[in-house]
Amino acid sequence: MRVEVDRDLCESNAVCVGIAPDVFDLDDEDLAVVTVDEVPPAREEDVRSAVQLCPKIALTLLEDD
Ligand code: SF4
Repeated sequence: MRVEVDRDLCESNAVCVGIAPDVFDLDDEDLAVVTVDEVPPAREEDVRSAVQLCPKIALTLLEDD
């Protein structure tokens, strides 16, 4: 599973970083970035929570086939 950030929607509140700091970070522009290529299986549950809780609906899951 992978996850993407729509940087046009992100409002830098770091909700995702708070839930999964090993997957998300804020960059020099204070916008969220994904710091892993593939989400580790053990982190998928928290990443799904971050996707659901992002106030701007800026996160998208890319499920494996
Ligand atoms: S939770 Fe959403 S709006 Fe907030 S920093 Fe993460 S991607 Fe951006």
